[in-house]
Amino acid sequence: MAPWALLSPGVLVRTGHTVLTWGITLVLFLHDTELRQWEEQGELLLPLTFLFLVLGSLLLYLAVSLMDPGYVNTQPQPQEPKEEQTAMVPQGIALRRCRYCLVLQPLRARHCRDCRRCVRRYDHHCPWMENCVGERNHPLFVAYLALQLVVLLWGLYLAWSGLQFFQPWGLWLRTRGLLFATFLLLSFFSLVAGLLLASHLYLVASNTTTWEFISSHRIAYLRQRPSNPFNRGLTRNLAHFFCGWPSGSWETLWAEEEVEEGSSQAV
Ligand SMILES: [Zn+2]
Ligand SMILES: [Zn+2]
Repeated sequence: MAPWALLSPGVLVRTGHTVLTWGITLVLFLHDTELRQWEEQGELLLPLTFLFLVLGSLLLYLAVSLMDPGYVNTQPQPQEPKEEQTAMVPQGIALRRCRYCLVLQPLRARHCRDCRRCVRRYDHHCPWMENCVGERNHPLFVAYLALQLVVLLWGLYLAWSGLQFFQPWGLWLRTRGLLFATFLLLSFFSLVAGLLLASHLYLVASNTTTWEFISSHRIAYLRQRPSNPFNRGLTRNLAHFFCGWPSGSWETLWAEEEVEEGSSQAV
């Protein structure tokens, strides 16, 4: 491996996230916050729980960031002959060939120019993760957002507990300036994580991806239908997203909807 590969955007962004996470945690521990007061009283359960959650959020971040988001195989699978592959695709769907990596794209897949691969059930390319969010890591991404929000809100409360406003303001700023900056940073990140979590829960509940939501007018398989063909109601959407049940390809689900539509029109 070339030495400059160690400084790839992925390595930089993951190192930045890790340093920021532990830096903020350290600021909260070093100032006169509730964390410090618990420690001095010998109550270690809450500080240890906080540390455990911070570590958990960091490990989830690294897992989502480093895992395969669901890349489409560029090599044809030897155990699946070509005839069988095409036979599995219901009629009426013209699968597209990617013009960059030349693979046959399954329904809902999209080519990511940053990853230079096609990703199954592509959601978006996350610059904070330096990885795509797709079929394989989207559930873990939502879990990460939820845990990160809990950690951020708890951190925000802890920072607030240590601000203890007093005059003169010059002295306050010298002793609490860093903690106040941390408080502002945590407020900003909490807002971003909260908005992202809310929007992803909405998308997951309606079985839509970010890409489909913002570009539905440009996507052929969505334009052919009056409403989202993958939406099977809240319970089934959530069960499929988090547990992979009921299983089945998007092509089958898309074709099923057509049959249902046809039969309801016939009635
Ligand atoms: Zn591609
Ligand atoms: Zn990507």
